[in-house]
This record gives sequence, structure tokens and C-alpha cells, in this order.
Amino acid sequence: MRGKEFIAPLRLNKHTMKIHNFSAGPSILPQPVLKQAAAAVQEFADMGLSILEISHRSKQFSAVMEEAEALMRELLGIDDRYSVLFLTGGASTQFFMTAMNLLPQGKKAAYINTGTWSTKAIKEVATFGQADVIASSEDRNFSYIPNGYTVPSDAEYLHITTNNTIFGTQFHELPDASCPIVADMSSDILSRPITLDRYGLIYAGAQKNLGPAGTTIVIVRNDLLGKVDRNIPTMLDYRTHIKKASAFNTPPAYPIYVAMLNMRWVKEQGGVAEMERRSIAKADLLYKTIETLPAFECAAEQGSHSYMNATFRLTDASREVDFLAACDQAGISGIKGHRSVGGFRASMYNALPLSSVQHLVDVMNAF
Ligand SMILES: *Cc1c(COP(=O)(O)O)cnc(C)c1O
Repeated sequence: MRGKEFIAPLRLNKHTMKIHNFSAGPSILPQPVLKQAAAAVQEFADMGLSILEISHRSKQFSAVMEEAEALMRELLGIDDRYSVLFLTGGASTQFFMTAMNLLPQGKKAAYINTGTWSTKAIKEVATFGQADVIASSEDRNFSYIPNGYTVPSDAEYLHITTNNTIFGTQFHELPDASCPIVADMSSDILSRPITLDRYGLIYAGAQKNLGPAGTTIVIVRNDLLGKVDRNIPTMLDYRTHIKKASAFNTPPAYPIYVAMLNMRWVKEQGGVAEMERRSIAKADLLYKTIETLPAFECAAEQGSHSYMNATFRLTDASREVDFLAACDQAGISGIKGHRSVGGFRASMYNALPLSSVQHLVDVMNAF
């Protein structure tokens, strides 16, 4: 399969129209994954039982947990200095859990503010220490990734949002920092290889590029833990979940299962290097079209464009309704932009085939 374009099987609505899913999240999953996920709801592992009605401590489900962790480690090249956890509470819980576990009282962490999600993460730090916002792109409605800042040498960590789902910007290079990077990778995890050594902690809500809503992946370097004095509630202490291999309490079994199936799919397709190649091909096609057609313009600035979420507008805003209707007619779903940016947003996660982007481009050309 490596190097070949993934051909998506037909997804049809009840009017037998082919649907192209550009949703920002929860978002598209590969058809073969949905098929296996559906079958496991009926019967799992020849048990005569649904995956929804078995113990999370059964040997059949333990095998799922083990495979999910092993696949994540294999796909991103994660060695045993790091733990891989499948938690709950969404990326939003990680906004405070990271500071709670990593930031000693009275110390500071550096933050780069690149949008709604970074802003929310910054807000949570105050309870535990100080967030030093060293750069921000708020002055131009988060339309770019800042540069020209320095990370203070006394920062415990640097927090970034690698891909800004709402504003359509993405870090294409990691900032220079002597401290570990804590990254919200919710909307671009598994879309490209990572330089593991630069990261102290990576977190991601599953529902963008990894699986269904309900589980949050955390990859944490073990030696960073245990350095804070505060009392951490048991459920919010990473060490609890490390000790119990993400099964201290009932884990979100089904979302983990579907994420595991999706990781198998990513591996079969050629891994994250192949996902990156496809992402670049999809993004290039769409951005070139936006730049060529006078009716459209990018919302994000050149150089900061996200390969996952492309934000764009019509140069004549009064025609937005017409374009949305044209997309609707053509079976293009989930294209409306977030209210804080307006216009349109095409999310091109791993499971979205190039042919869907080509279809959108055809509709844009015809418009
Ligand atoms: C969606 C999203 C979040 C919020 O995730 P939840 O799982 O809903 O808490 C955080 N960060 C980024 C980058 C996102 O795209």
C-alpha cells in the first residue's frame, strides 16, 4: 500500500449521495475501521458478547489495551523513557493536569498563545504556578505562528498547540527551547513523524485524528513526574495511570478499541511518514486552488498554513450562503468555519482521501 493513494469506499447518505466528510471533529474515520468497529458491537473476539458488555479486565480486552499502546509506540517511535496512557476528560482536562503534575508551586512555564485552545490551557495554569506567555498571535486573530521570541531558561516547560484546529495554523518547526516541550497535539497526532526527544509530554483528545471522542492519549517522559509537592488527587496523578497501565478505573473501552483499529489502519497504509506525504499532497492541492481563484482567500498567513485544517473565506462575503449551498448539493459535509474565524474550514485528517479534496476543488472551480 505504501505510496499509493487510499481509495475510500463509498459513503452514501439515504439519498445515495456520496458524502465527503471535512468535519473538524469528531471527524472522519476510515471506512474499514468503522466496519470492524460496528461488527465488534455485535460480537467481539468470538466471545458471543459485544465489546460493550465485557470486563475491561478480561484477557480479550487487555489484549486491545496492549495493542493500542504498542501501536502508538511503534507509529511514533516512543521508547520506554516515556509512558503511553489512554485517559478520559478530553484535551481540556490536560490543560490543567499538565500544570498540576509538572509545574512546582512558585515556578513558571512558558506558553505560546496560538488560539482558542492555547488560551484555555494558559488560563488553567494560574491555580498551580505562573504561565509566562512568551509569544502570541492574538494581534491578528491568531492567523499565524509567531517567531522571534526566546524561551526563558528558567521555564519548567514550554507549552505549544502544534496544530490550531480553529484558526488553521500549524507549527512546521519546533521552537528552540532548552526545556522540555509540552504539546497539545489533538488535531495533528499521527499526521507526521515527531522528534520525540524534544517533548516532555504530548497529549491529544482522540476525536480529531486518532479515533472517536472519549479517550485522551498522554505520552509522558517518566523522569519529569514526582517533582511537585502539592497533593494531587489520585485520578489526576499521571503516576496512578502509569502504575495501572491505564486501567486504574474503568477505561473508555470502546473509544480505545476504535482508536486501536485506526492505528492498525495507519500502520497498514505505511505509517506516519505516509500520512505526512498524503497530508502535504491534500493541503497543497487545496491551498493552491484558494490562491489561484480570485473568489477565495486564505484566512491563515502563508508559512503558517495547517496541513490538517485549511481556513478560507470568499472575497465577497455575501456569497457565503451560496457556496455553502453548493457544497451541500455536492455532498461536502462539515465545511462551515468556526464562528471565531468565519468563512470555511476544510479539515483533511488522515482518513480523508485526496479524491475528497479534489471533489471540493472541483466545486470551488465551478463556483
Ligand atoms: C478539540 C481540541 C481540544 C479540545 O479537546 P476536548 O477533547 O474536547 O477537550 C483541545 N486542543 C485542540 C488542539 C483541539 O483541536
